[in-house]
Amino acid sequence: MPEEEKFRIEDIEKWKRAGRIGAEAREYGKSLMKEGAALADIAEKIEAKVAQLGGTMAFPAQISRNYLAAHYCPDIEDKTILENGDMAKLDLGVSIDGCISDTACTVYLGDDTAMKNLVEASLAALENVSKMMRDGIEIGKIGTEIQRTITSMGFSPIRNLSGHGLGKFSIHCDPSIPNFATTSKNLLSNQAIAIEPFATTGTGIVVDSGTANVFSMPHKKPVRDAITRKVLAQIEEYNGLPFARRWLEKKFSRAEAAFALRNLIKNDVLVEYPPLAEVSKGMVSQAEHTFLIIKDGVIITTL
Ligand code: MN
Ligand code: MN
Repeated sequence: MPEEEKFRIEDIEKWKRAGRIGAEAREYGKSLMKEGAALADIAEKIEAKVAQLGGTMAFPAQISRNYLAAHYCPDIEDKTILENGDMAKLDLGVSIDGCISDTACTVYLGDDTAMKNLVEASLAALENVSKMMRDGIEIGKIGTEIQRTITSMGFSPIRNLSGHGLGKFSIHCDPSIPNFATTSKNLLSNQAIAIEPFATTGTGIVVDSGTANVFSMPHKKPVRDAITRKVLAQIEEYNGLPFARRWLEKKFSRAEAAFALRNLIKNDVLVEYPPLAEVSKGMVSQAEHTFLIIKDGVIITTL
């Protein structure tokens, strides 16, 4: 990772604050996730809460239901409501001057015991890993424990979604932390890490599915037409962090936002993050916390 993105101990209070706000916004979001609640409304309220607490979004609030594992982000006209039987994952990230927290939880709106156990499986995997975390832990041991916990409860981990490093203004960086057993002896030390076990009733692979409503601009490139330039100026304010189509739809017309996004994607200016679906349409649960792994011990910022 570039030098300026690395975790620095002098920023620790900002990392902790991003974590506290992320945790509070997650719990607030959880309280809104009831039958009949609209996804767009929940996302808007969570994002307003983060702003009110003094944070900015490190990436948009995302609420992915059932066999969608991640990256479902309502646009401004999304009418989806939570229904009885939904397995809804809330994933959100907060930034304080580029110091990031990344946290997720699952709310199941039903009475099925197996589905309640599915929620427990990703949570138990995260809790078991939390107990093992220390300065110098081997990456392979984390995935081994995640796989062991989830399979012991009768489910499968999702193999192509991973935990990851967090850097300043970087929501995904090295190292990758697989959610299954590997022999990696690489050690974690002096870094910020997100651990995010996913458990599923399916085969444990996700694939891109449907229209992306989350994007990022890793590098700026010049564009010619006036509408796209106007939208691009707004996108620059996100500092390379992911943003939602919905955010642009509040600043411009829906048509202008769509036009500019299409243009920027065609010209390879933006990266798209489409919803991720479990390939066999298995139900999916997720739990996620942000960890600071430092000499003095381990801090879970999003508890
Ligand atoms: Mn996340
Ligand atoms: Mn993450």
